[in-house]
Amino acid sequence: MADVTRMTATEIAALIAGGEASAVEVTQAHLDRIAAVDDRVHAFLHVDGDGALEAARAVDAKRAAGEELGPLAGVPVAVKDVLTTKGVPTTVGSKILQGWRPPYDSTIVRRLRAAGTVMLGKTNMDEFAMGSSTEYSAYGPTGNPWDLGRIPGGSGGGSSAALAAYEAPLAIGSDTGGSIRQPGAVTGTVGAKPTYGGTSRYGLVAFSSSLDTPGPCARTVLDAALLHEAIGGHDWRDSTSIPAPVPDVVAAARAGATGDLTGVRLGLVTEFSGEGAEPGVMAAFRDAVDALTKLGAEIVEVSCPHFQYALPAYYLIAPSECSSNLARFDGVRFGLRVGDDGAHSLEEVMSLTRDAGFGPEVKRRIMLGTYALSSGYYDAYYGQAQKVRTLITRDFTAAFEQADVLISPTTPFVAFPFGSRTSDPYQMYLADLFTIPTNLYGGPGISVPCGLSEGLPVGLQIMAPTMADDRMYRVGAALESVIGTLTPPEL
Ligand code: GLN
Repeated sequence: MADVTRMTATEIAALIAGGEASAVEVTQAHLDRIAAVDDRVHAFLHVDGDGALEAARAVDAKRAAGEELGPLAGVPVAVKDVLTTKGVPTTVGSKILQGWRPPYDSTIVRRLRAAGTVMLGKTNMDEFAMGSSTEYSAYGPTGNPWDLGRIPGGSGGGSSAALAAYEAPLAIGSDTGGSIRQPGAVTGTVGAKPTYGGTSRYGLVAFSSSLDTPGPCARTVLDAALLHEAIGGHDWRDSTSIPAPVPDVVAAARAGATGDLTGVRLGLVTEFSGEGAEPGVMAAFRDAVDALTKLGAEIVEVSCPHFQYALPAYYLIAPSECSSNLARFDGVRFGLRVGDDGAHSLEEVMSLTRDAGFGPEVKRRIMLGTYALSSGYYDAYYGQAQKVRTLITRDFTAAFEQADVLISPTTPFVAFPFGSRTSDPYQMYLADLFTIPTNLYGGPGISVPCGLSEGLPVGLQIMAPTMADDRMYRVGAALESVIGTLTPPEL
């Protein structure tokens, strides 16, 4: 049998459904691959081999009993360590949650199990999903399978690297400012941020609650759509979950794969015309735009004048919400506790625990957010940022009157070498220059590979109106039909 680790999720599911491979064989092949390469890649923080094989045996038993299998039954999936998994360690890349085994599954993980997918383990990430390189993980960085001396993006670098290293055919990420799309772009894989509220935040360890969006990562657009369909939809446990069916993303991906974009209007954002982006990234992007026009798409220029304020507004809103959300890590309720020796007061225990448990970037964000929310400054910082958010939403609304989707490069630069952006936080923040507006608006965005620059992958971002996630899958699949999937060098 051909190497299943090189197959798409769609191909693997067909093999299992047709009885050509068992779910246990498929799972074992991926566990073997992880054992062979993950000491170099470090995509995983925790591999749950026993749990995975048990889930795989259940799928095989169902098939043997003649029960109907879902479209992803038996397909392995890697889950970002930001989602709670019952009894399986969940650290969020932080020392403060070291050793914590959640008593419940997040909704995303529950739906993954219900769909018959097989969870291989938990993937590395920047601490509390704050970062763009996984270098802020408390457990050491992940390598980019294209060049192990370079970053795989972040915060969900582990999930995207697992895909590019053929350790998993599917993965879950979370996107607050770009953490699904940016790692997808720099690893040559697909990453989709659904409409905010289209996927449940129940059991997603909160960073910035008005922005956090879990979503699918895969090596093909169709696989991402299948995963999106499996995890998406209303959840009463999440107060901001949208009570509407998942847009028909799978049909859209199939339609796009035919390579026909006749009549589809692609909006090129004037303000994203290349300033601040590497020339090689812009060249790959422009070639991809030409390819899309050959498929029948029409290009329209749209102006979104407030996008230039998205980054500063995000870096007030996200830290403000994080300073509030992370208050719960007090050394009493979860994970780490420092100074509990009878010699310290409760307040000292909390302070010692937070000092030892949080890394420098998380502390920076908590301090920034606490300052922005403090009395006397609230209106000037947080309030002002919320107004900017409204203006950005208006820009999107106006742009979608002229265009069906907006397109841009996903990131201004290709994967950078370790250590090259850690000394200046702003240089790290710039990685999300093109992805953040979508989060502030709440709409969906996808990154699809569009070529190489200096031998490294470049992603094209497609942004759609809220609850029109299907549009980005159609355009993404059409692009993929021209570009194909990108294959990294052998590890
Ligand atoms: N890189 C951005 C940040 O550091 C986005 C992170 C994310 O989407 N979780 O906040």
